[in-house]
Amino acid sequence: MNQVWVGTVLAVQANFYRVQLDGESFTKPLLCTRRSRLKKIGQRVMVGDRVRVEDPDESGLRGAIAEVYPRTTELSRPPMANADQILLVFSVEQPTLDPYQLSRFLVKGESTQLKLCLCLNKSDLVSPQWQAEWHHRLGQWGYVPLFISMVSGQGLAQLAEQLAQRVTVVAGPSGVGKSSLINALIPDAHLRVGEVSGKLQKGRHTTRHVELFQLPNGGLLADTPGFNQPDVDYPPEELGDYFPEVRQLLRGNSCQFSDCWHREEPHCAIRGDWERYEHYLMFLEEAIARQDQRDRQADPESTLKRKGDNTYEPKLNTKKYRRPSRRTQHQQLEEWYKDADL
Ligand code: GDP
Ligand code: ZN
Repeated sequence: MNQVWVGTVLAVQANFYRVQLDGESFTKPLLCTRRSRLKKIGQRVMVGDRVRVEDPDESGLRGAIAEVYPRTTELSRPPMANADQILLVFSVEQPTLDPYQLSRFLVKGESTQLKLCLCLNKSDLVSPQWQAEWHHRLGQWGYVPLFISMVSGQGLAQLAEQLAQRVTVVAGPSGVGKSSLINALIPDAHLRVGEVSGKLQKGRHTTRHVELFQLPNGGLLADTPGFNQPDVDYPPEELGDYFPEVRQLLRGNSCQFSDCWHREEPHCAIRGDWERYEHYLMFLEEAIARQDQRDRQADPESTLKRKGDNTYEPKLNTKKYRRPSRRTQHQQLEEWYKDADL
């Protein structure tokens, strides 16, 4: 029986694919082409794809991709298959942690439906007490942050554990230390580390194509471009799904109106006294504005359907509160890249 060779696509370069085969036989990635049969059926090959390779050639490090296995997840920007989780990196200082910006990234991350890990870098610049306070504060938001530092090495062992054997997309604003982090974990990556400079304290932006780096003990990391303001781009009724606090409040509770937007509606279970409620309302306004704009493009008359006082009338029992399906949501990460400061 012929041996079946299976591997992971690490990078796409023109018509070639860099593939790392599983197992011990090939320590270096192969440069592969795609069988013409795949071209004929329009089968795309993405970074992160699990593929079957034919005729791997040990001396020339060549091969041919004959089959692409079904994907568990798919992002379009960066084009990437089979990501397991997002590692969201922020810094505590330089640039200073901004709760509103952090919230935006968290909500964006939640909308992908991938697992989220939150790391707060440059912890060497703040006191243990500061860290304890933020640990508590973010706990109220529904997150357990991992404090890390490239300078002191704090948290790096726990981080390595989080990343082992998984496919992780690294995201976060520029200047927070993403490149430094990847270089620390993967010395071969050689990412350029930018200087934090100027009034805005934006790191110099150095990232380009998506590429998977292999962690020394198994697992893959993908770098993403740095950017500072991810878009709020989802239907307003989904926004609540992306706040752990809302999910918690709706456990065993419900609003009077099944399509409640948790603003002015009577008998709302969500409105009230939690820190990020303000963020929720701001993102909701953005989501509504965006939907209006979209509706107007699709149907110029649609604004007439709104009430004159510029509020929406809640309707009873139109739609069940639900989590969006993976299929419709798993591409949301691409929206993060809209504002990339490339
Ligand atoms: P990126 O834009 O997110 O990739 O950030 P970089 O990795 O380019 O880092 C931006 C700046 O932060 C560089 O000057 C790094 O040396 C610095 N930096 C990174 N990690 C740490 C850290 O843990 N502590 C401190 N004090 N500075 C750091
Ligand atoms: Zn409500």
